[in-house]
Amino acid sequence: MRAARLNLETNEFALADVPIPDPAPGWVRVKVKSCGVCLTDLHMLAGQLRGPHRQTGELTLGHEIAGEVDLPGEGVENWQAGDRVAISLLHYRDGAEYTVGLDFDGGWAEYVVTPAETLVRLPDSLPFDVASIVPDAVSTPWAAITQTAEVKPGESVAIWGVGGVGTHALQILRFVGAAPIIAVDPLPEARERALRLGADFVIDPTAEDAVAKIKELTKGVGVNVAFDFVGISAIEVDLLRAAAPFGRTIWVGANTQPLVLETPGMLLFQRQQIRGHFASGPEAVPELLDLLALNRLDFSESITDSFSLEEIETAIDRLKRKVGNPVRLVVVP
Ligand SMILES: [Zn+2]
Repeated sequence: MRAARLNLETNEFALADVPIPDPAPGWVRVKVKSCGVCLTDLHMLAGQLRGPHRQTGELTLGHEIAGEVDLPGEGVENWQAGDRVAISLLHYRDGAEYTVGLDFDGGWAEYVVTPAETLVRLPDSLPFDVASIVPDAVSTPWAAITQTAEVKPGESVAIWGVGGVGTHALQILRFVGAAPIIAVDPLPEARERALRLGADFVIDPTAEDAVAKIKELTKGVGVNVAFDFVGISAIEVDLLRAAAPFGRTIWVGANTQPLVLETPGMLLFQRQQIRGHFASGPEAVPELLDLLALNRLDFSESITDSFSLEEIETAIDRLKRKVGNPVRLVVVP
Protein backbone atom coordinates (compact mmCIF):
# COMPACT_ATOMS: atom_id res chain seq x y z
CA MET A 1 0.00 0.00 0.00
CA ARG A 2 0.97 3.64 -0.31
CA ALA A 3 1.93 5.49 2.90
CA ALA A 4 3.40 8.96 3.58
CA ARG A 5 6.36 8.28 5.89
CA LEU A 6 8.63 10.52 7.95
CA ASN A 7 12.15 9.41 8.89
CA LEU A 8 12.29 10.48 12.54
CA GLU A 9 16.09 10.78 12.52
CA THR A 10 16.72 12.58 9.20
CA ASN A 11 13.33 14.35 8.78
CA GLU A 12 13.11 12.96 5.22
CA PHE A 13 9.49 12.63 4.17
CA ALA A 14 8.20 10.68 1.17
CA LEU A 15 5.46 8.45 -0.19
CA ALA A 16 6.52 4.82 0.04
CA ASP A 17 5.21 1.37 -0.85
CA VAL A 18 4.94 -0.65 2.35
CA PRO A 19 3.26 -3.95 3.23
CA ILE A 20 -0.40 -3.76 4.25
CA PRO A 21 -0.20 -4.14 8.07
CA ASP A 22 -1.84 -7.10 9.83
CA PRO A 23 -3.72 -6.37 13.05
CA ALA A 24 -2.25 -7.81 16.27
CA PRO A 25 -4.63 -9.56 18.69
CA GLY A 26 -7.06 -6.93 20.02
CA TRP A 27 -6.24 -4.56 17.15
CA VAL A 28 -8.20 -3.78 13.99
CA ARG A 29 -7.16 -2.93 10.45
CA VAL A 30 -9.08 0.09 9.10
CA LYS A 31 -9.29 1.20 5.47
CA VAL A 32 -8.64 4.95 5.66
CA LYS A 33 -11.36 7.04 4.00
CA SER A 34 -10.21 10.44 5.26
CA CYS A 35 -7.31 11.73 7.36
CA GLY A 36 -6.75 15.31 8.48
CA VAL A 37 -3.64 17.40 7.85
CA CYS A 38 -2.84 19.20 11.10
CA LEU A 39 -0.37 21.74 12.51
CA THR A 40 0.89 18.90 14.72
CA ASP A 41 1.98 17.12 11.53
CA LEU A 42 3.86 20.28 10.48
CA HIS A 43 5.65 20.28 13.86
CA MET A 44 6.53 16.60 13.29
CA LEU A 45 7.78 17.30 9.75
CA ALA A 46 9.91 20.19 11.02
CA GLY A 47 11.49 17.93 13.65
CA GLN A 48 10.09 20.04 16.53
CA LEU A 49 7.85 17.34 17.93
CA ARG A 50 8.12 13.58 18.50
CA GLY A 51 5.83 11.06 20.16
CA PRO A 52 7.32 10.00 23.52
CA HIS A 53 7.30 6.31 22.46
CA ARG A 54 8.73 6.64 18.94
CA GLN A 55 11.97 8.53 18.33
CA THR A 56 13.69 6.43 15.65
CA GLY A 57 13.00 4.78 12.30
CA GLU A 58 10.17 5.68 9.95
CA LEU A 59 6.64 6.64 10.92
CA THR A 60 3.46 7.06 8.87
CA LEU A 61 1.98 10.42 9.93
CA GLY A 62 -1.70 11.36 10.19
CA HIS A 63 -3.73 11.20 13.39
CA GLU A 64 -7.21 12.45 12.41
CA ILE A 65 -8.67 9.31 10.91
CA ALA A 66 -12.04 8.00 9.75
CA GLY A 67 -12.62 4.91 7.66
CA GLU A 68 -14.10 1.45 7.38
CA VAL A 69 -13.15 -1.59 9.43
CA ASP A 70 -11.26 -3.91 7.07
CA LEU A 71 -10.00 -6.77 9.26
CA PRO A 72 -10.57 -7.26 13.01
CA GLY A 73 -7.62 -8.95 14.75
CA GLU A 74 -7.81 -12.05 16.92
CA GLY A 75 -10.16 -11.65 19.89
CA VAL A 76 -12.00 -8.62 18.49
CA GLU A 77 -15.69 -9.45 18.50
CA ASN A 78 -17.71 -6.26 18.31
CA TRP A 79 -16.36 -4.93 14.99
CA GLN A 80 -16.96 -6.25 11.50
CA ALA A 81 -15.62 -5.46 8.05
CA GLY A 82 -17.48 -2.47 6.63
CA ASP A 83 -18.28 -0.77 9.97
CA ARG A 84 -17.87 3.01 9.63
CA VAL A 85 -15.56 4.36 12.34
CA ALA A 86 -13.47 7.24 13.63
CA ILE A 87 -10.27 6.54 15.56
CA SER A 88 -9.71 8.17 18.95
CA LEU A 89 -6.28 9.76 19.21
CA LEU A 90 -5.04 8.14 22.41
CA HIS A 91 -4.89 4.73 23.98
CA TYR A 92 -3.27 3.34 27.10
CA ARG A 93 -0.92 0.37 27.37
CA ASP A 94 1.04 -0.66 30.48
CA GLY A 95 0.25 2.67 32.14
CA ALA A 96 1.58 4.73 29.24
CA GLU A 97 -0.29 6.93 26.77
CA TYR A 98 0.12 6.30 23.01
CA THR A 99 -0.98 8.60 20.17
CA VAL A 100 -1.78 7.31 16.67
CA GLY A 101 0.37 9.03 14.04
CA LEU A 102 2.94 10.07 16.69
CA ASP A 103 3.81 6.89 18.61
CA PHE A 104 2.69 4.36 16.00
CA ASP A 105 1.82 4.45 12.29
CA GLY A 106 -1.05 6.78 11.41
CA GLY A 107 -3.56 7.44 8.64
CA TRP A 108 -1.70 9.04 5.75
CA ALA A 109 -1.90 5.60 4.16
CA GLU A 110 -4.40 3.26 2.59
CA TYR A 111 -4.72 1.22 5.79
CA VAL A 112 -3.97 1.74 9.50
CA VAL A 113 -3.98 -0.71 12.42
CA THR A 114 -5.22 0.49 15.80
CA PRO A 115 -6.40 -1.00 19.14
CA ALA A 116 -10.11 -1.95 19.00
CA GLU A 117 -10.87 0.31 21.98
CA THR A 118 -9.93 3.40 19.93
CA LEU A 119 -12.72 2.78 17.41
CA VAL A 120 -15.90 4.82 17.62
CA ARG A 121 -18.92 4.04 15.44
CA LEU A 122 -20.02 6.84 13.09
CA PRO A 123 -23.60 8.04 12.72
CA ASP A 124 -24.87 7.02 9.25
CA SER A 125 -25.49 10.67 8.38
CA LEU A 126 -21.91 11.78 8.99
CA PRO A 127 -19.54 11.84 5.99
CA PHE A 128 -16.00 10.48 6.45
CA ASP A 129 -14.29 13.85 5.88
CA VAL A 130 -16.17 15.61 8.69
CA ALA A 131 -15.82 12.51 10.90
CA SER A 132 -12.04 12.48 10.45
CA ILE A 133 -11.54 15.92 11.99
CA VAL A 134 -13.54 15.05 15.13
CA PRO A 135 -10.79 12.99 16.90
CA ASP A 136 -8.44 15.99 17.22
CA ALA A 137 -9.47 19.29 15.66
CA VAL A 138 -12.88 19.14 17.35
CA SER A 139 -12.34 16.85 20.36
CA THR A 140 -9.23 18.73 21.54
CA PRO A 141 -11.04 22.07 21.96
CA TRP A 142 -14.09 20.17 23.27
CA ALA A 143 -12.07 18.64 26.10
CA ALA A 144 -10.09 21.88 26.64
CA ILE A 145 -13.34 23.81 27.13
CA THR A 146 -15.52 21.31 28.98
CA GLN A 147 -12.88 19.55 31.10
CA THR A 148 -9.61 21.46 31.43
CA ALA A 149 -11.12 24.97 31.49
CA GLU A 150 -14.48 23.90 32.99
CA VAL A 151 -16.24 26.76 31.18
CA LYS A 152 -19.67 27.49 32.66
CA PRO A 153 -22.62 29.22 30.96
CA GLY A 154 -22.33 33.00 31.16
CA GLU A 155 -18.56 33.05 31.65
CA SER A 156 -16.59 35.49 29.54
CA VAL A 157 -13.97 33.98 27.27
CA ALA A 158 -11.18 35.18 24.97
CA ILE A 159 -9.46 32.93 22.43
CA TRP A 160 -6.29 33.63 20.51
CA GLY A 161 -6.16 31.96 17.09
CA VAL A 162 -9.38 31.06 15.25
CA GLY A 163 -7.92 28.74 12.61
CA GLY A 164 -8.21 24.97 12.30
CA VAL A 165 -8.80 24.34 16.02
CA GLY A 166 -9.85 27.73 17.40
CA THR A 167 -12.74 27.92 14.92
CA HIS A 168 -14.22 24.78 16.46
CA ALA A 169 -13.47 26.13 19.94
CA LEU A 170 -15.66 29.14 19.39
CA GLN A 171 -18.53 27.02 18.01
CA ILE A 172 -18.28 24.85 21.14
CA LEU A 173 -18.03 27.91 23.43
CA ARG A 174 -21.21 29.21 21.84
CA PHE A 175 -22.83 25.79 22.40
CA VAL A 176 -21.89 25.67 26.11
CA GLY A 177 -23.14 29.23 26.67
CA ALA A 178 -19.96 31.25 27.20
CA ALA A 179 -20.53 35.01 26.83
CA PRO A 180 -19.13 37.18 25.62
CA ILE A 181 -16.82 35.25 23.29
CA ILE A 182 -13.92 37.41 22.12
CA ALA A 183 -11.72 36.11 19.26
CA VAL A 184 -8.22 37.46 18.56
CA ASP A 185 -6.67 36.77 15.14
CA PRO A 186 -4.59 38.85 12.72
CA LEU A 187 -6.23 37.34 9.59
CA PRO A 188 -9.29 39.28 8.34
CA GLU A 189 -10.88 36.11 6.86
CA ALA A 190 -10.48 34.30 10.18
CA ARG A 191 -12.10 37.18 12.08
CA GLU A 192 -14.99 37.38 9.60
CA ARG A 193 -15.55 33.61 9.94
CA ALA A 194 -15.33 33.87 13.74
CA LEU A 195 -18.13 36.46 13.80
CA ARG A 196 -20.26 34.28 11.55
CA LEU A 197 -19.71 31.13 13.67
CA GLY A 198 -20.31 32.57 17.13
CA ALA A 199 -17.83 35.21 18.35
CA ASP A 200 -19.45 38.30 19.89
CA PHE A 201 -16.39 40.47 19.28
CA VAL A 202 -13.23 40.09 17.19
CA ILE A 203 -9.89 41.83 17.64
CA ASP A 204 -7.04 42.35 15.17
CA PRO A 205 -3.93 42.20 17.41
CA THR A 206 -1.84 43.94 14.74
CA ALA A 207 -4.16 46.97 14.74
CA GLU A 208 -4.93 47.39 18.44
CA ASP A 209 -3.82 46.26 21.90
CA ALA A 210 -5.77 43.02 22.33
CA VAL A 211 -5.46 42.97 26.12
CA ALA A 212 -6.65 46.58 26.50
CA LYS A 213 -9.59 45.89 24.16
CA ILE A 214 -10.56 42.74 26.09
CA LYS A 215 -10.52 44.75 29.36
CA GLU A 216 -12.69 47.39 27.72
CA LEU A 217 -15.19 44.77 26.50
CA THR A 218 -15.41 43.22 29.99
CA LYS A 219 -15.98 46.41 32.01
CA GLY A 220 -12.31 46.57 32.98
CA VAL A 221 -12.32 43.18 34.70
CA GLY A 222 -10.86 40.81 32.08
CA VAL A 223 -12.19 37.41 31.02
CA ASN A 224 -12.96 34.38 33.18
CA VAL A 225 -11.15 32.09 30.75
CA ALA A 226 -8.50 32.77 28.09
CA PHE A 227 -7.29 30.18 25.54
CA ASP A 228 -4.14 30.07 23.40
CA PHE A 229 -4.68 27.97 20.26
CA VAL A 230 -1.53 29.34 18.60
CA GLY A 231 1.40 28.32 20.81
CA ILE A 232 3.42 31.56 21.10
CA SER A 233 5.05 32.73 24.34
CA ALA A 234 3.88 36.35 23.96
CA ILE A 235 0.28 35.14 23.65
CA GLU A 236 0.60 32.93 26.71
CA VAL A 237 1.67 36.00 28.71
CA ASP A 238 -1.22 37.99 27.21
CA LEU A 239 -3.67 35.32 28.42
CA LEU A 240 -2.71 36.17 32.01
CA ARG A 241 -2.84 39.92 31.32
CA ALA A 242 -6.35 39.57 29.82
CA ALA A 243 -7.73 37.25 32.51
CA ALA A 244 -9.85 38.41 35.43
CA PRO A 245 -8.90 37.66 39.06
CA PHE A 246 -9.32 33.89 39.61
CA GLY A 247 -9.26 33.55 35.79
CA ARG A 248 -8.11 30.31 34.12
CA THR A 249 -5.67 30.47 31.23
CA ILE A 250 -5.46 27.42 29.01
CA TRP A 251 -2.47 26.55 26.85
CA VAL A 252 -3.53 24.39 23.90
CA GLY A 253 -1.22 25.48 21.05
CA ALA A 254 2.11 23.64 20.95
CA ASN A 255 4.79 26.10 22.06
CA THR A 256 8.46 25.11 21.78
CA GLN A 257 9.86 28.53 22.75
CA PRO A 258 11.07 29.80 26.16
CA LEU A 259 8.62 31.86 28.19
CA VAL A 260 9.38 34.72 30.59
CA LEU A 261 6.68 35.73 33.06
CA GLU A 262 7.57 39.25 34.17
CA THR A 263 4.51 39.63 36.33
CA PRO A 264 4.17 36.42 38.38
CA GLY A 265 2.34 38.57 40.98
CA MET A 266 -0.76 38.06 38.84
CA LEU A 267 -0.77 34.40 39.74
CA LEU A 268 -0.33 35.22 43.42
CA PHE A 269 -2.50 38.22 44.23
CA GLN A 270 -5.08 37.59 41.50
CA ARG A 271 -5.15 33.79 42.04
CA GLN A 272 -4.96 33.19 38.30
CA GLN A 273 -4.23 29.71 36.98
CA ILE A 274 -2.31 28.28 34.05
CA ARG A 275 -3.65 24.95 32.81
CA GLY A 276 -2.07 22.92 30.03
CA HIS A 277 -4.15 20.90 27.63
CA PHE A 278 -3.45 18.08 25.16
CA ALA A 279 -5.84 15.98 23.04
CA SER A 280 -8.89 14.46 24.78
CA GLY A 281 -9.99 11.49 26.85
CA PRO A 282 -11.77 8.40 25.47
CA GLU A 283 -15.26 9.85 26.09
CA ALA A 284 -14.80 12.95 23.91
CA VAL A 285 -15.22 11.46 20.43
CA PRO A 286 -18.36 9.40 21.27
CA GLU A 287 -19.91 12.46 22.96
CA LEU A 288 -19.22 14.64 19.95
CA LEU A 289 -20.47 12.08 17.43
CA ASP A 290 -23.75 11.88 19.39
CA LEU A 291 -24.05 15.67 19.31
CA LEU A 292 -23.36 15.69 15.56
CA ALA A 293 -25.94 12.95 14.95
CA LEU A 294 -28.50 15.07 16.83
CA ASN A 295 -27.54 18.18 14.83
CA ARG A 296 -26.52 20.09 17.97
CA LEU A 297 -23.19 20.96 16.40
CA ASP A 298 -22.16 21.19 12.75
CA PHE A 299 -18.59 21.23 11.47
CA SER A 300 -19.34 20.49 7.81
CA GLU A 301 -18.13 23.94 6.80
CA SER A 302 -14.68 23.14 8.21
CA ILE A 303 -13.54 20.86 5.37
CA THR A 304 -11.82 23.43 3.19
CA ASP A 305 -10.37 20.97 0.68
CA SER A 306 -9.39 17.34 0.16
CA PHE A 307 -6.30 15.83 -1.48
CA SER A 308 -5.17 12.40 -2.66
CA LEU A 309 -2.22 10.73 -0.94
CA GLU A 310 -0.11 11.63 -3.99
CA GLU A 311 -0.95 15.30 -3.35
CA ILE A 312 0.15 15.22 0.31
CA GLU A 313 3.05 17.65 -0.22
CA THR A 314 0.63 20.17 -1.78
CA ALA A 315 -1.73 19.83 1.18
CA ILE A 316 1.13 20.32 3.65
CA ASP A 317 2.38 23.37 1.77
CA ARG A 318 -1.11 24.84 1.64
CA LEU A 319 -1.52 24.50 5.41
CA LYS A 320 1.98 25.82 6.09
CA ARG A 321 1.43 28.96 4.00
CA LYS A 322 -2.30 29.25 4.88
CA VAL A 323 -3.15 29.45 1.17
CA GLY A 324 -6.87 30.26 0.95
CA ASN A 325 -7.04 30.43 4.77
CA PRO A 326 -8.00 26.75 5.25
CA VAL A 327 -9.82 25.51 8.37
CA ARG A 328 -9.10 21.81 7.82
CA LEU A 329 -7.54 19.97 4.90
CA VAL A 330 -8.00 16.22 4.58
CA VAL A 331 -6.29 13.43 2.66
CA VAL A 332 -8.53 10.88 0.96
CA PRO A 333 -6.27 7.90 0.12
ZN1 LIG B 1 -4.34 17.16 14.73
